[in-house]
Amino acid sequence: MRVLFSAPDWDRWQGPLAAACPEAEFLLKGDPEGFDAIIYAPGGEIEDLSPYRNAKLVQSLWAGVERIVTNRTLTQPLARMVDPGLEQGMVEYCCGWVLRMHLGMDNYAQDGIWRNDIVPPLAHQRQVTVLGAGALGKAVARALHGLGFDVATWSASGRGADGITAYSGDELRQALTRAEIVVILLPDTAETQNLMDSDRLAMLPKGAAIVNPGRGTLIDDEALLAALDSGQVRHAVLDVFRTEPLPPDHPFWSNSSVTVTPHIASETRADTAAKVVAENLRRVMRGEEPLFLVDRDKGY
Ligand code: NAP
Repeated sequence: MRVLFSAPDWDRWQGPLAAACPEAEFLLKGDPEGFDAIIYAPGGEIEDLSPYRNAKLVQSLWAGVERIVTNRTLTQPLARMVDPGLEQGMVEYCCGWVLRMHLGMDNYAQDGIWRNDIVPPLAHQRQVTVLGAGALGKAVARALHGLGFDVATWSASGRGADGITAYSGDELRQALTRAEIVVILLPDTAETQNLMDSDRLAMLPKGAAIVNPGRGTLIDDEALLAALDSGQVRHAVLDVFRTEPLPPDHPFWSNSSVTVTPHIASETRADTAAKVVAENLRRVMRGEEPLFLVDRDKGY
């Protein structure tokens, strides 16, 4: 099997891919018609997929596929990345920032003031909503639930995690009105863009906190800045932006109620993800359906 690697960081992937799937030949270029599958991530060599007529799979190395699913030259089946390492990284990122918001860790400046008037509630007294209950949203919801938080998820279908309240598409209001802390792990699709506009931000309890490692397009930037100004939103931890890197003059940088992290919430880990890629390549070789196929109509 010949597999085209069209993604950055070949040096990082070469060893794990060869070890996980020794029966495949991974190449950086070659006759397009000679490839059985393509490993893809933005920033790789190819954007025109039409000459790759015999490829039976395009395997994304990213969980978010908005930059490939909209590619008009894509006719091959597309699988997104579901990787245990990516999942664990996202769990740690979200739990860390949710705990910071929950405990009010920023209240304690080294300024000689003895601020003992606000004791944080226990986790079970804190309502957290995770928007998105896919591979990552579910893992994060489970971990927060494990820490004792009063967690709910919201997703299109209402499928969530066992033992955790799950709201579906038309129950967004219920999901938001309870959310003292909201974690956003939705994909970027036509349906989800600007989901968190001024109306949705106004549904949150006053002083809610937002953690967004999903995508920058999910939040209306202007509406968020207004909600931060009014105190409707207490703090926003943002990992993803409409333009990345976030331009130096963007108001998020200078707003003390915003924490900017540079799209590092979690990355695909080559050592764990190579095994996922290998499993999908083997499925293709056996003529079976690959795992984690993207629904082109839904966009995720
Ligand atoms: P996933 O498994 O595809 O899950 C997507 C979830 O969103 C599903 O629960 C889905 O609902 C829900 N959803 C989609 N459209 C919706 C809509 N219109 N209304 C309500 N719910 C909707 O994706 P994932 O692997 O969890 O990843 C989620 C996102 O995280 C990615 O798309 C990517 O943007 C982001 N991400 C960020 C980083 C980072 O470092 N910042 C790293 C990895 C991923 P159903 O369950 O009903 O289908």
